Amino acid sequence: MHSPHDPYVRVRDAREHNLRGVDVDIPRDALVVFTGVSGSGKSSLAFGTIYAEAQRRYFESVAPYARRLIHQVGVPKVGEITGLPPAVSLEQRRSSPTSRSSVGTVTTLSNSLRMLFSRAGDYPEGVPRLDSDAFSPNTAAGACPECHGLGRVHRTDEELLVPDPSLSIREGAIAAWPGAWQGKNLRDVLDALGYDVDRPWRELARRDREWILFTDEQPVVTVHPVREAGRIQRPYQGTYASARRYVLHTYADSKSQTLRARAERFLTSAPCPSCGGGRLRPQALAVTFAGRTIAELSALPLTVLAGVLGSADGDETARVLTADLLARIAPVTELGLGYLGLDRATPTLSSGELQRLRLATQLRSGLFGVVYVLDEPSAGLHPADTEALLVVLERLKAAGNSVFVVEHHLDVVRGADWIVDVGPRAGEHGGLVLHSGPVAELASVAESATRRFLFGGSPAAARPPRRSTGWLEIGPVTRHNLRAVGTRVPLGALTAVTGVSGSGKSTLVGAITAGSPGVGKLVTVDQKPIGRTPRSNLATYTGLFDVVRKLFAATDEAGARGYRAGRFSFNVVGGRCETCQGEGFVSVELLFLPSTYSPCPTCRGARYNRETLEVRYRGLDIAGVLDLTVEAAAEFFAGVPAAARGLGALLEVGLGYLRLGQPATELSGGEAQRIKLATELQRLRRDHTLYVLDEPTTGLHPADVEVLMRQLNGLVEAGHSVVVVEHDMDVVAAADWVVDMGPGGGDEGGRVVATGTPAEVASAAGSRTAPFLATALG
Ligand code: ADP
Ligand code: ADP
Ligand code: ZN
Ligand code: ZN
Repeated sequence: MHSPHDPYVRVRDAREHNLRGVDVDIPRDALVVFTGVSGSGKSSLAFGTIYAEAQRRYFESVAPYARRLIHQVGVPKVGEITGLPPAVSLEQRRSSPTSRSSVGTVTTLSNSLRMLFSRAGDYPEGVPRLDSDAFSPNTAAGACPECHGLGRVHRTDEELLVPDPSLSIREGAIAAWPGAWQGKNLRDVLDALGYDVDRPWRELARRDREWILFTDEQPVVTVHPVREAGRIQRPYQGTYASARRYVLHTYADSKSQTLRARAERFLTSAPCPSCGGGRLRPQALAVTFAGRTIAELSALPLTVLAGVLGSADGDETARVLTADLLARIAPVTELGLGYLGLDRATPTLSSGELQRLRLATQLRSGLFGVVYVLDEPSAGLHPADTEALLVVLERLKAAGNSVFVVEHHLDVVRGADWIVDVGPRAGEHGGLVLHSGPVAELASVAESATRRFLFGGSPAAARPPRRSTGWLEIGPVTRHNLRAVGTRVPLGALTAVTGVSGSGKSTLVGAITAGSPGVGKLVTVDQKPIGRTPRSNLATYTGLFDVVRKLFAATDEAGARGYRAGRFSFNVVGGRCETCQGEGFVSVELLFLPSTYSPCPTCRGARYNRETLEVRYRGLDIAGVLDLTVEAAAEFFAGVPAAARGLGALLEVGLGYLRLGQPATELSGGEAQRIKLATELQRLRRDHTLYVLDEPTTGLHPADVEVLMRQLNGLVEAGHSVVVVEHDMDVVAAADWVVDMGPGGGDEGGRVVATGTPAEVASAAGSRTAPFLATALG
């Protein structure tokens, strides 16, 4: 059937996740959108099948020896795909918080800037020409030796580490120490070393105090722990680490945000005295271009940097290199990211910003004949910048590529050449391709959930804004690009904060704190994962798993065997499968390739050992329960009120299709956010609560947005207040109050441009949001 001239990617019998033997033909060299409600199977088709298969073929071609392993680690469940070009995915999980990558490294613009400084910089007398590595804070040749290229130095002192010197060490004088066992261990080590842990801190000798807090030595001693709580403890070898060492180490290396934040409280940070924050050796910082050092240029917003480079004069080399830089900065600013500087660390960017950066970078990659697979590139993008996004996608296509995007934003959908609509609903009620063809033809597909929004077009019935029950004052905030900015939002109402990307919405909303008058409690419902390991899942996060384990422990069979609730946890020794330690899969290392996972050969993914699985509750073993969807579980546990309430809340937020044991790492940001919302909903708060949500519609189909809005309005009806940062103009139009930030991003933003009811803001002069809001209000 397939000839090289066949212009289609033809997928046959796709069965990944919930896909029901899907056959679909998708044109190459086109801009194709994948639509459908959350959980319908769009990603399973675009990423799980098409992209995964392209990756597999790529792996096979570069590493034929790995073939057996690749088969083991998961070939997408699909009969056949023909006409499939190599694929590039711009979807990327967040980098680790300690990573040194920045806007400059992601876009590779930093490389070019270093080249410019190396070849065409102004060198003062006596400084030899430097290699471009010498301008990188991430190389030994470039990094300032004092701060190791970080630009800041962290210090600590006795006052910070020991805030109350009247306490003894046993009473907790050293506030910086970790809690629980680790803290006790350090105390016992000091005791064994002969220090007095019962005298008030201030009475200890100065030399001892300094050693305890600041030594770099790490002596090892035998500790004989005192009996505590009647438990007998064996002697062990304990290592001492000074308070400073512990704090610096935790701050620099800990993977845990909480621990790092805690360590930060005991540190003061100041610009490095040697490089003044420039991060480089003095020689490199002596070189300038257009009168500025590379550190100064890297700190400028890209729009300003482009201006500086554009007006610089220089020789032929300088002209060629600046022209290249300017050509590569242009798409970044077009995608609404001109407010970013090259030195901005990637962990501080949102995933939408990061994906658009990668997208802008691809435009100059010169690749052609590939499929780009993107996940909601409009996330975080103001409607004013959506046009530019479409232009960039068109350019990728014009360069000879296929562009496949999973997208909800209707303007992007309308701009596509082709639509693959998946549905009709989520999970096992989805998994079918309802339409694959030109967008206009979707108008005649009755069962499509997308059709109504694309072609219906009647704006939601206007509801008079609610009257506030009071006001919450925010600010004045001075942070990032905000200079003493304050505003107020109504209590007992729904407020939307709008503005272009980088205008300061998150910064403003982040300044709302609990304890403001009128706010009983503050609940932030974000899109951060509900857990970072496959050991957390829907059931563990919501507390449902505790209920379930108790039910299993209460069965006759468990009683006869002496199994308690803990036996039914896959996280502890006893009930879990020991081959995979309860993970359900084992890691497979491939030479030269990222390590990957394959189902556990012993339990085949069940996570438990055989004995544990012999216990059944109403016919299901514990692995079987974890395999239930929320919908099925709600029926199964209908008679158990402790379980039914939480399951009901999950159904209400539209997550009936998720499986209880689905690992947290497999859930999308939008799903994580709705799980948090459901968990909050089942708590039935009485006192007034302020809910803050950052772009809750990310990853949501317009039909899912309707469900979300019902939830949010329900919270307001119950007397609470809701503040959302939002770009979806239908949501903004349905709010009671709007705070519009701007007018631009970065230094061109940071002000409240307009505030009032949606109708008032829609007619505000100078607001980039106003025209779009006016359209949504109809
Ligand atoms: P969409 O992209 O339309 O939101 P998905 O393709 O992510 O939908 O999900 C389709 C179905 O497959 C859902 O029922 C979802 O819970 C399930 N699913 C998604 N990822 C996985 C996975 N890694 N393992 C098992 N099931 C999954
Ligand atoms: P929005 O939410 O409207 O997209 P933000 O509040 O995230 O805007 O950003 C406002 C400004 O503050 C932007 O110029 C952004 O680059 C800057 N900014 C945001 N977060 C950080 C950070 N962690 N470090 C440095 N600058 C930041
Ligand atoms: Zn330094
Ligand atoms: Zn196992």
